[in-house]
Amino acid sequence: TPLNNDKLNPEKGSVQNDAIKEEPIEEEECHRDVPSSSKRVVSQPWIRIGNVPPEQPQPAKKYTPCPFCTTKLLVSAIENHIQLVHKHSWLKFAKRCQEDDCDYRSVHDSHVKQHAEAVHGRTYKNWKNTMRLAFPIMTRCPFCPRFIINVTQFNKHMNNDHPTLTSNEAKIFICDSCSFSTDRCYKMYAHWIERGNRCKGGMGFDYVAAKQAYKQDMIKQQIETRKLANSLKRDS
Ligand SMILES: [Zn+2]
Ligand SMILES: [Zn+2]
Ligand SMILES: [Zn+2]
Ligand SMILES: [Zn+2]
Repeated sequence: TPLNNDKLNPEKGSVQNDAIKEEPIEEEECHRDVPSSSKRVVSQPWIRIGNVPPEQPQPAKKYTPCPFCTTKLLVSAIENHIQLVHKHSWLKFAKRCQEDDCDYRSVHDSHVKQHAEAVHGRTYKNWKNTMRLAFPIMTRCPFCPRFIINVTQFNKHMNNDHPTLTSNEAKIFICDSCSFSTDRCYKMYAHWIERGNRCKGGMGFDYVAAKQAYKQDMIKQQIETRKLANSLKRDS
């Protein structure tokens, strides 16, 4: 990933710059109008004596505050955290794969591109042409009574009517050909590509798993609403 490359090959200068940014003392010094050259000498005395500092911060473990709750997290963990904790923000924040039949999302453009190259090739176009992405007649949404025709319609319906459930972790998709189940249809596509001729059918829904996910989501939403109400009360 592009974000990690920086960390794996850190230039000495950039590591030191990062260290400066994370020093809260620096900010106070800024307000006191200390010239930037003397700032450096204060926070990094080893520059003056020409030695490597005894405890340099580990460049591979960089923590960044979550943009929504300011919890400090590893850069590599932020995406997952936003997806699970800040569902509404995640939906706005992440880029979606351009294919209608797909529910892949990432905050990194490069990840979306890599995913599309891996999944949406000729094999996938064949599935569309052979109606592999269509559901059997009278198939219902696993979260409400609406009838669902195909994966495209299901994804649209999820985004419009069950947005908080689009990032649920319940394995609601089941492969018709084997016992594999997963939480995202893009993972089912990866499964089909991997299985080749061993899995030739379509996919269906696990209604029991979906029902549990629905209940848990309701509880989470209620907790979030209560938290928000409490914080508004505190502020006023
Ligand atoms: Zn957060
Ligand atoms: Zn996709
Ligand atoms: Zn529904
Ligand atoms: Zn399968």
